[in-house]
Amino acid sequence: MQGPINLVRLRQKQPRLKLNPEEYTLLRTRVLERDGWRCQECGSMEGLEVHHMKPRSRLGDDVIDNLMTLCAGCHGKCHGGRP
Ligand SMILES: [Zn+2]
Ligand SMILES: [Zn+2]
Repeated sequence: MQGPINLVRLRQKQPRLKLNPEEYTLLRTRVLERDGWRCQECGSMEGLEVHHMKPRSRLGDDVIDNLMTLCAGCHGKCHGGRP
């Protein structure tokens, strides 16, 4: 299959970007800062975690646009009610 425009594939970031733990920690901090250190669901500032809006299992990348801040409670609900 040959698409007419291969340039569409050009992206700033590489897909399936794999971060080392240090970079991931930094990325998490950036997400928390962007979201004002508040759960984006309930506004709590405790027990904050970073949630992948599009999970890695569905080709979600470790990029700031794919991550959001949730508290442990809301994050648990996002993953089927388990904490
Ligand atoms: Zn919350
Ligand atoms: Zn999550």
